[in-house]
Amino acid sequence: MKYGIFGGTFDPIHTGHLLLVEKAMDIFSLERVFMVPTGVSYLKSGVSAAADRLEMTRRAVWELADERLVVDDVEILREGSSYTYETLEYYKESFPEDDCYLIIGEDSLRYIEKWRCSKRIFELSTILVAGRNESYHPAIGNDMGYSEASLDTLIRDLTDRLECRIEFFAFDCDVSSTEIRRSLKNGEDVSAYLTDSVKQYIDEKGLYRL
Ligand code: ATP
Repeated sequence: MKYGIFGGTFDPIHTGHLLLVEKAMDIFSLERVFMVPTGVSYLKSGVSAAADRLEMTRRAVWELADERLVVDDVEILREGSSYTYETLEYYKESFPEDDCYLIIGEDSLRYIEKWRCSKRIFELSTILVAGRNESYHPAIGNDMGYSEASLDTLIRDLTDRLECRIEFFAFDCDVSSTEIRRSLKNGEDVSAYLTDSVKQYIDEKGLYRL
């Protein structure tokens, strides 16, 4: 089986995440993708409660009704900070004979070497990188080792130095959770970027208003 892992804070999950994962599954013929909301992020502060992010992810995936997609709360149930390499080790134990693909956006590739045990991540998976719209400005700055190199150069450099497997796929979707949170705080309409049930959950719980 070729399976994917798509992790994120999903705070909130948006149409960009869903389009991205659908495209990755189609292009790389993934039979299953596990959507893994981060438990405790060691890279981001002020993240919403895990229970809310998990519920929004479950609702979005349920609404999408794609049998290949499964939401997994493995990182939320694990104690302490969430590390991708631990999640990959966990899947390797569960599916030792299968091929694992880690799905990330371009911004994540730009600081992946700062992730805990990144070498192990490269050993355990092939990285599928989605392009990210150039208007996106990550909250994570140069002090986090964010690479400003051209994407081609970065991929060549990582591949040469670390013998990792990285596949790029074109993706151009101008949406981010940061922008959605900002818009919600300002009372702006963000329904184009959220599924109905996620929007309803945010309204019911009054999330992102403060
Ligand atoms: P934030 O704005 O809070 O940083 P985000 O929109 O980047 O959030 P995450 O949950 O952090 O969302 O993203 C999970 C993964 O999806 C990351 O690897 C990120 O690069 C990727 N991703 C999210 N949105 C896009 C997008 N519009 N285009 C490409 N990749 C994306």
